Amino acid sequence: MNPRKKVDLKLIIIGALGVGKTSLLHQYVHKTFYEDYQTTLGASILSKIIILDDTTLKLQCICSSPQIWDTGGQERFRSMVSTFYKGSDGCILAFDVTDLESFEALNTWQGDVLAKIIPVEQSYPMVVLGNKIDLADRQVPQEVAQGWCKEKDIPYFEVSAKNDINVVQAFETLAGQALSRYRSILENYLTDSIKLSSEDQPRSRCC
Ligand code: GDP
Ligand code: MG
Repeated sequence: MNPRKKVDLKLIIIGALGVGKTSLLHQYVHKTFYEDYQTTLGASILSKIIILDDTTLKLQCICSSPQIWDTGGQERFRSMVSTFYKGSDGCILAFDVTDLESFEALNTWQGDVLAKIIPVEQSYPMVVLGNKIDLADRQVPQEVAQGWCKEKDIPYFEVSAKNDINVVQAFETLAGQALSRYRSILENYLTDSIKLSSEDQPRSRCC
C-alpha cells in the first residue's frame, strides 16, 4: 500500500480569450501543443497526479474565460460562473505577452476571482503567467509584468506553452501553495474541533 497522503486540489486557469489557457493546460498535462484549439466556450478539464512534499496530489485543472458566460446576465450562465470558481484551491491568471490588453485585463480577472472564492479568510494562492514568450512581437515588457505582480505579491512566470518553457514550474508552484493552504485550513478546522470538544466536556460533567 502507498503510505503517502492523498489530496485532491482544484486549480483554475483564467484570462482573456486567446492567451493560451487551453494550450498551457495541454502542455502541462499531456506534454503536447497544437496550433489550433477550438475556442473554449465551456470549460476544459484535465487531471494530473503529481507527488509533492511526500503527498500524492490529484490536480484537477480547469480552464475557461468565465466572463464570456456572463454576458446578458442570464441566471443559468451566472450559476456556471460560480460553479467554476467554487471550491477552487488556486488560480492561474494568464495573459499573452504580445497582447497588452490581455495584461491590462488582469486587474479585472484578479478582482473577479477574489470576489467569488471561498473561504476568504485564508490567503488564496495565485500565480501569473505571461505566455507566448517564444514570439518576437512582445507588447508587455517583463519588468512591467513583474512590477504588477510584486505589488500584488503574486509569483510571476514568463512561459511558452508552445516551447514548453517554465510551464511545469508555474503549475507546480501553484500546486505547492494550494497544498500549504489546504493544510492550514485543515489544521484550523481540527484545532477548532478540539477546542469545541474540550469546551463541551465540563458542561457534560456538571449535568
Ligand atoms: P485560450 O483561448 O486562452 O484557451 O487560448 P488557446 O490555448 O486556444 O490559444 C490561442 C492561440 O494561441 C492558439 O492558436 C495557440 O496555438 C496559440 N498559442 C498558445 N500558446 C502559445 C505559445 O506559447 N506560443 C505561441 N506562439 N502561440 C501560442
Ligand atoms: Mg481555450
